[in-house]
Amino acid sequence: MKKIPLWLWIMAGLVLGIAWGLIAVSANLQSFTTDYIKPWGRIFVNLLKLIAIPLIFLSLVNGISSLGDITKLGKLGLKTVGIYIGTTIFAVSLGLLLANTIGPGRSFPQDVKEKLELAYAGQAETSQNVATDVVSRGPLSFLEDMVPDNIFSAMSTNSAMLQVILFSVLFGMALLKIDPLKKTSVIKTIDAFNEVILKLVGLIMYFAPLGVFALIGGMITDVAGKDSSSILSLFSALAWYMMTVVIGLFFLILVVYPLLVFVFNRKKFPLFFKAAYPAQLLAFSTSSSAATLPVTMDCCETKLKISPSVSRFVLPVGATINMDGTSLYQAVATIFIAQAFGTELSFTAQITIILTATLASIGSAAVPGAGLIMLVMVLQSVGLSVQGISLILAVDRILDMFRTVVNVTGDMTVATILDRHTKEIGV
Ligand code: ASP
Repeated sequence: MKKIPLWLWIMAGLVLGIAWGLIAVSANLQSFTTDYIKPWGRIFVNLLKLIAIPLIFLSLVNGISSLGDITKLGKLGLKTVGIYIGTTIFAVSLGLLLANTIGPGRSFPQDVKEKLELAYAGQAETSQNVATDVVSRGPLSFLEDMVPDNIFSAMSTNSAMLQVILFSVLFGMALLKIDPLKKTSVIKTIDAFNEVILKLVGLIMYFAPLGVFALIGGMITDVAGKDSSSILSLFSALAWYMMTVVIGLFFLILVVYPLLVFVFNRKKFPLFFKAAYPAQLLAFSTSSSAATLPVTMDCCETKLKISPSVSRFVLPVGATINMDGTSLYQAVATIFIAQAFGTELSFTAQITIILTATLASIGSAAVPGAGLIMLVMVLQSVGLSVQGISLILAVDRILDMFRTVVNVTGDMTVATILDRHTKEIGV
């Protein structure tokens, strides 16, 4: 009998998770779901996050050491960051264009607005406090934050990925400069550890169908809360907003990324979507680019056959700083909130959104809900009330799933583009 491929099992987990969520909501099984189903989802995400830090360190050092010299690293680094920023600016601009054209907040009902402000005031304030801590420091604080004073404490938290990246790059650069004999033995050891971690990813993925089932089932019961009829009326009030975000995200996935792959690496074009969907499926279920990273790397290396020296540098950096989906959503959300409050945003304000949403998406951690917290920074930059996020909080969890798929696909697109240019870079 033919073996059923893992992705089909994961797909089955997703479908059964949706079914379970709907049954649980209608049969009042929320607390059973909380006690006995949701923990499996958290265990799965923890297993993936568990290897994120070692994976980032080992793969970056491995990737850099296989480049062979620092000039090549410089070229690859510049191209990677350049393309990442370029695609993010494009995504924000697309979000602005869609939100200004569709106008999802123009006819937003006043009574729903008041109800939402009242219901989500507390949560909005929490996000504001977290974001204010980030924003209220000096303009160079982001540079300061990138440099850890203790690598072990940086590695002990999943929220300091940029610090780990910086340390790994410095470590890789230093490694290239030491005595060749010693260098070879360090590289061999790193290579072996890297293989162990990649094997571990394979083992953890056996747990994926159950994990995905629990994550999706739990998410549905969470979103529906106790009163499933009120969530339906909320969804219809926010339908235009959600649709605008989703149209933008689908445009990136179905038009922009395929076009970029087609133009810059035609050979890989037919394979791209077939290779990408396991990572996309996981991004959708976990809402975390960091948790998806091990699978994103596996898809790129084993299915798309992207050179490890490219994927092991481009993907860990991308999971942390490249979030096209998040930046597009932040642009749409800002315009939506402005429209709902009847505030006209000038051309200069829209340019400010491009700048701040690009920075905010770079600063967003690759975990669920991070984009919403950084949205506060974008709202403040154009003088909108932070309370505005209470209007979109109810549906944010769902949109997070879609934007994470785009974030991950964007990283894979850039890795595929750069793989074609490895000769120019000298890799
Ligand atoms: N959940 C997203 C990610 O991990 C970030 C966000 O937009 O909240 O890519």
